[in-house]
Amino acid sequence: MSNDPACIFCKILRGEIGSVKIHEDQDTLSFMDVMPQSPGHCLVIPKRHAADILEISADEAAVLIRATQRLAKAVKSALLPDGIGVYQFNGNAAGQTVFHVHFHVIPRHAGAELGFHARQMADPATLYPLASKIAAAFSQ
Ligand code: AMP
Ligand code: ZN
Repeated sequence: MSNDPACIFCKILRGEIGSVKIHEDQDTLSFMDVMPQSPGHCLVIPKRHAADILEISADEAAVLIRATQRLAKAVKSALLPDGIGVYQFNGNAAGQTVFHVHFHVIPRHAGAELGFHARQMADPATLYPLASKIAAAFSQ
């Protein structure tokens, strides 16, 4: 499944590096982005390695977008943002920095600017309470 030795998200899936997990199912994992562009910024990845959206099947895309929608609903109910950005980048030229396909789910608050992409590392201590709140919303 998580089968690219050099891929950082595969390393997370194999448990070789830490992450602040929110929810997982048979095919996907949701976890906190370590360089959040807003508080509550999280990611959804498939457990099978694929570089980008062009490398997954239509069925895998359907599974991934369903998991993304579930995460967005959990973020909405846990954090009550005014809006939610769902973003996905393919290729260096499009801004992709980790080459394991993923969706970003980013809570947005009216009047609050989005932080820079993949720039500022968060203190993990700030991520755990957000992850717990979002995880709790999955079971509602
Ligand atoms: P992209 O640029 O669309 O490929 O997004 C990759 C995202 O992964 C960025 O928002 C990074 O902040 C985030 N990221 C990179 N390494 C990690 C990690 N080890 N754990 C969680 N998020 C990460
Ligand atoms: Zn990977």
